[in-house]
Amino acid sequence: MKYHPDRNPDNKEAEAKFKEAAEAYEVLSDGDKRARYDRFGHAGVGQGAGGFSGAGGMTMEDIFSQFGDIFGEGGSPFESFFGGGAGGRGGRRRQGQRGANLRVKVKLDLGEIANGVNKKIKVKKQVICNTCNGSGAKDSGSVSTCSTCRGSGYVRQVRSTFLGQMQTTTTCPTCGGTGQMITAKCGTCKGDGRVLGQETIELDIPAGVAEGMQLSLQGKGNAGMRGGGNGDLLVSIEEIEHPSLQRDGNNLIYELYLNFADAALGTSVEVPTIDGKVKIKIPAGTQAGKILRLKSKGLPAVQSYGKGDQLIHTSIWTPKKLSDAERKILEQMRNMSNFDPNPGKSEKGFFEKMKDYFT
Ligand SMILES: [Zn+2]
Ligand SMILES: [Zn+2]
Repeated sequence: MKYHPDRNPDNKEAEAKFKEAAEAYEVLSDGDKRARYDRFGHAGVGQGAGGFSGAGGMTMEDIFSQFGDIFGEGGSPFESFFGGGAGGRGGRRRQGQRGANLRVKVKLDLGEIANGVNKKIKVKKQVICNTCNGSGAKDSGSVSTCSTCRGSGYVRQVRSTFLGQMQTTTTCPTCGGTGQMITAKCGTCKGDGRVLGQETIELDIPAGVAEGMQLSLQGKGNAGMRGGGNGDLLVSIEEIEHPSLQRDGNNLIYELYLNFADAALGTSVEVPTIDGKVKIKIPAGTQAGKILRLKSKGLPAVQSYGKGDQLIHTSIWTPKKLSDAERKILEQMRNMSNFDPNPGKSEKGFFEKMKDYFT
């Protein structure tokens, strides 16, 4: 209650604290979420893979509906708690219905993910009607006070519950919470206060995002009905597959095929990385399955410091067809005892090597 938005208007810090409390409530009241929280922490209960859209992607509306569960449906629980205020939460009259959230997908390649990217996207959405400025009325003379709620936007009900008499407040069904009735509608939007339009939105996408993560931009969604607040814009990240690098968390994996002679004699080869080609040395006697590491050539972490690595997984290329001359050389090699496999202690198997990297 200390951080309730009505007691702290325009206080971002109080709002954040309130969201935190609401999230804690949400987690504790849901056994499944609680188990996930215990195992994965904050990220486990967020939306998408990253959960970086604030307090689990909840809006204030979501939070009120959360608390609504314990106080009975429909009403504003806080009013019941405080014995009712003058006309809704903190005396503010509610606007028309809030606009719907808008969902878009953004495709990013690994280069954009590695560095972060600024994208401008065009979205079709409902925007405020310019003719009536969102009121939905033809002119100022065609608006009158709602007779059902006398302009408050709310109607009160007194109910008997096991806790005694409780007063609940619900949105006025006549005016939809605006407190006003329109006698003549705006010709452009037919009284809706919004029309279908288009907006170019700038997205500032941080480095290190991953497939399935969701960014939410508050108030960038559809305009609300008759001056109701805007919905949010929810941006889902999609990853474009790289032709030769594979992502594993913040690490990048490159499969390098070596000519058997190169692996035996040693050589240097060029491998692709996110920032261009890099020359690496292949020591003589390199075994298939050896993992070479290019430190910090991976992807940055989205919400912390540091970068992953690029891991180069070596394979030996075996020719699929042989000429007679090649066959002759290989037949000779087959009989040389030095070519017989002879793994010592230093030759770790595949599973042991993976363990070295991930423990
Ligand atoms: Zn209009
Ligand atoms: Zn009304």
